[in-house]
Amino acid sequence: MPAMTASTLRDLEHHSAFVERHIGPNDAEIAHMLGVVGHDSLDAMTDAIVPGKIASRSPLALPDAMIEVDALAKIRAVAKQNTVLRSVIGQGYYGTHTPNVILRNILENPAWYTAYTPYQAEISQGRMEALINFQTMVTDLTGMDIANASLLDEATAAAEAMTLAKRSAKSKSNVFFVADDVHPQTLDVLRTRADGLGIELQVGPVEDATAADTYGVLLQYPNTFGRIGDHAAVAEAVHARGGIVAVATDLLALTLIQAPGVWGADIVVGNSQRFGVPFGFGGPHAGFMACRDAYKRSMPGRLIGVSVDAAGNQAYRLTLQTREQHIRREKATSNICTAQVLLAVMASMYAVYHGPDGLTRIARRTHRFASILAAALGKAGVTVGDAFFDTLHITGVDADALHAKAREAGFNLRAIDGTSVGISLDETTTRDEVVALAQLFGADADIDALDGATADALPTSLARDTKFLTHPVFNTHHSEHELLRYMRMLADRDLAMDRTMIPLGSCTMKLNATAEMIPVTWPEFGNIHPLAPADQTVGYTELIDGLEKMLVEITGYDAVSFQPNSGAQGEFAGLLAIRAYQQAQGQGHRDICLIPESAHGTNPASAQMVGMTVVVTRCDKDGNVDVDDIRAKAEKYSDRLAAIMITYPSTHGVFEEDVVAICDIVHQHGGQVYTDGANMNALVGVAKPGKWGSDVSHLNLHKTFCIPHGGGGPGVGPCAVKSHLAPYLPRALGGDGAVGMVSAATHGSASILPISWMYIAMMGADGLRRATQVALLNANYVAKRLAPHYPTLYTGRNDLVAHECILDLRPIKDATGISAEDVAKRLIDFGFHAPTLSFPVSGTLMVEPTESESLHELDRFIDAMIQIRDEIRAVEDGRLDREDNPLKHAPHTAMQVTASEWTHAYPRELAAFPLATLRHTKYWPPVARVDNVHGDKNVFCSCIPVGSAEDEPEAFSEPDVA
Ligand SMILES: *Cc1c(COP(=O)(O)O)cnc(C)c1O
Repeated sequence: MPAMTASTLRDLEHHSAFVERHIGPNDAEIAHMLGVVGHDSLDAMTDAIVPGKIASRSPLALPDAMIEVDALAKIRAVAKQNTVLRSVIGQGYYGTHTPNVILRNILENPAWYTAYTPYQAEISQGRMEALINFQTMVTDLTGMDIANASLLDEATAAAEAMTLAKRSAKSKSNVFFVADDVHPQTLDVLRTRADGLGIELQVGPVEDATAADTYGVLLQYPNTFGRIGDHAAVAEAVHARGGIVAVATDLLALTLIQAPGVWGADIVVGNSQRFGVPFGFGGPHAGFMACRDAYKRSMPGRLIGVSVDAAGNQAYRLTLQTREQHIRREKATSNICTAQVLLAVMASMYAVYHGPDGLTRIARRTHRFASILAAALGKAGVTVGDAFFDTLHITGVDADALHAKAREAGFNLRAIDGTSVGISLDETTTRDEVVALAQLFGADADIDALDGATADALPTSLARDTKFLTHPVFNTHHSEHELLRYMRMLADRDLAMDRTMIPLGSCTMKLNATAEMIPVTWPEFGNIHPLAPADQTVGYTELIDGLEKMLVEITGYDAVSFQPNSGAQGEFAGLLAIRAYQQAQGQGHRDICLIPESAHGTNPASAQMVGMTVVVTRCDKDGNVDVDDIRAKAEKYSDRLAAIMITYPSTHGVFEEDVVAICDIVHQHGGQVYTDGANMNALVGVAKPGKWGSDVSHLNLHKTFCIPHGGGGPGVGPCAVKSHLAPYLPRALGGDGAVGMVSAATHGSASILPISWMYIAMMGADGLRRATQVALLNANYVAKRLAPHYPTLYTGRNDLVAHECILDLRPIKDATGISAEDVAKRLIDFGFHAPTLSFPVSGTLMVEPTESESLHELDRFIDAMIQIRDEIRAVEDGRLDREDNPLKHAPHTAMQVTASEWTHAYPRELAAFPLATLRHTKYWPPVARVDNVHGDKNVFCSCIPVGSAEDEPEAFSEPDVA
């Protein structure tokens, strides 16, 4: 340790700065690493990497960095400006008690929230079990065959149902019918999405669903006003015409009423929010989708399935990935990449904790309270509707007067129109609340007397008669100890950032600091309903406006919408803005979107959603986008050119020299420039896309701005635009604006915005620039040190990379048969999460260390990679067998290594402890290498039946050989 030399107050203050905690390497380490990379200072290195044409020299105009305590005090004051009233607004969002054991051990636990999307199956078995519980829960409650591992929210899930139905229906009609009693936000998002795809929406009363010639219909059950309709006849009529029936529903209600799958639904969607996830002013929550088995290969979103590992044991993996954007691009079933894994895990644990009986009890209690309130109001002559579960539709009242009175008493009611209001009760409802709500209408509620005298209001013909959540996992962990240990057991199976760096290219798995996470669970942010009146959400407005200002300064754009709840949704919003702008200019015929072949799969998938035709442009041998090809294609399609989507720095990990020229070419031909901002971690404080000619970008707050990945979501994908596109950002619910909503809530996943706000506030302008510089340094340090062992595929100016580097393993594969995947799996034996595998170039590994990784951790990773290279060399030299070697058989489980029989041609010790340091701390993967082909041929996506641990699960249907 160097002696403490700081003596002035200013020096001492510097050392308590958050930037020192966020950035891994200290000053001495940075100096050492700069030496390895060959530069004298971070600024000199930055100048050598970033093209002068785009570099922004002046410091960001942001407030001074705050230390953790001050930033928390400041955001506390912001939060306090929100007023938390009891919201009984409903409309898709209901009060819920997050079980504290789940709050602390999932939502506040880095073992869960810092995990990555489970592409590496062997180190993701824990969260995949939680997700398969989610899928089973949704499948059971909806009465369907199969469910996915979450969607972004209910409204976008309904839009996905509309497109899934289009892909699957026998009917060739282009009309999709939507019942006029779906939630207003669902209808708004459907309109936006239908418009992009040229689907004709017909909206009307449910009865009209049978009259129209449609390829599909969307019904809501119970409807937005709470009424539970019997739709069996409608479903039958739609089926008779070759149409598909999609149903939006409520999971808690389904514990009491007939599952939609029983009465004819083909696709069922909704939101699992009320299973333990707070309002959060609109999100994040896990939307869901379930469908019939026949549509599973066309389903959007992630799907967890059961497969087998190399030892023949059952293991989970992401199944049917060939549907997804990263493989199918513009032909994918959706553009969904990041979804809502953490929230799906919470909802599934809520079901595990309460079990079928507990959930039914919560539902019955909610329903009894609703029935009692209805009876009290009925006695007082108020009309409340019938056939409801939890929601009263109160008509014939002076709504304004009632809302005022309600707020006085501490409640928000749903605003419907001048003479009607809505009240939705929930798990948190108490006797006192029901009495107080009744009093608003001048009614007395003697709860016990009414309870005895009041029948249920559920339609008896639709009483649920099928079982759900019968699997032991939902019937075992009901004591807090049991649940605590179950969650701990699952977390222990996974590798998240609380144990190791996750060097994933393009995904920026950086520190999610605890101070950033703390405000997320404050009630002033969590307990605000998305439709709470504006005077109760002053704090949120300040937070959102403040964050917008910060991001405007950082990006050089003029306006930001936080509505998109993932990067891909941000792309969709940005392309919608381009299209609407061009339409307003009389250029609505423009429909070509140029996309370089190196682009992330969400780019072409999003372009397809706004009705654009994707034209792929080439990359040259150095990995740069081919400007000549872009010019040629821009000329060729000059009168049709709508946009180009480029990623900067490129997905090949370099700052391309020609980005300004590309912007010029596209603008000359009347197109707009979309810059995919997922790589902003290489730009913050160094260059601004909005200033070099780009028109629009999405940012991934869950990459660059520290929102944790959550194992595959939540995310926030704000859409940032230049002023000419600002009028075309997605509108607010009920607002006006040329472009419709892209998510269910006006501000998307608002409750996690404090994370990014805290990060920027604590880093300040200098800290943010330094973070970018150290991200560049760390990547170049890894590239330089690994260069003698693994060549870096592409470099930019001065032989330097940007914030990530692509290691080329293809020559190794050719020479030895050892693949990039073998190396990825062998890293697990060393306790590391693999880098990005085979993106953007097949047969390579992409490493993005981020600024948060210390020199110690980088060296640990580099040592592991070098050791692996030595093993490969041993295969090359014949010291290890070409087939029977530790790379081909990685990862190794404890069971394999300790089995009485060891048949491999290499020693056990090499299998398990290839480096001496592993003897102190060893991560044991719970399964051996997972068989991908088996899982796709035998699709099984629910909890593994008990007693079948040794058997293979029975497949749903014949393997799809096509
Ligand atoms: C992550 C990523 C996206 C998609 O973002 P999501 O939030 O996962 O939807 C798009 N482009 C690039 C380059 C990315 O790395």
